[in-house]
Amino acid sequence: MILVFEDESEAWFGEVISDHLEEAQARAFSIIEAARKEDNGCLTTATVRPSKLRFLGRQVEAYRFIYCVVNQVTASTQQVVRHRCHNRLCVNPDHLVLGSQADNKQDDWLHWAYGTDPDYL
Ligand SMILES: [Zn+2]
Repeated sequence: MILVFEDESEAWFGEVISDHLEEAQARAFSIIEAARKEDNGCLTTATVRPSKLRFLGRQVEAYRFIYCVVNQVTASTQQVVRHRCHNRLCVNPDHLVLGSQADNKQDDWLHWAYGTDPDYL
């Protein structure tokens, strides 16, 4: 049995935010600026799947990186960055929110059942 005492995701974001914040934010904003602006405010990357980036020796989804760097949040491996707009290619920090994997599943269910997300806007 392996016991994990340190969450590697939290530790990595901690290092990014405390030691490399300026560079990380420059990366985040360059992705945001390159994205296409949709009528609903989404900023969509020109990729089929959510784009990833490599930073400080780690590969991470662009939207997760952008949310954490812009808001200076250290997300743990248990925490997911959710899309309130249900557009997984969106990198607009205003459309992203931190939650659990269960929240993410419920979002999908509510979206499927009602076509809307009650806490959106
Ligand atoms: Zn969006």
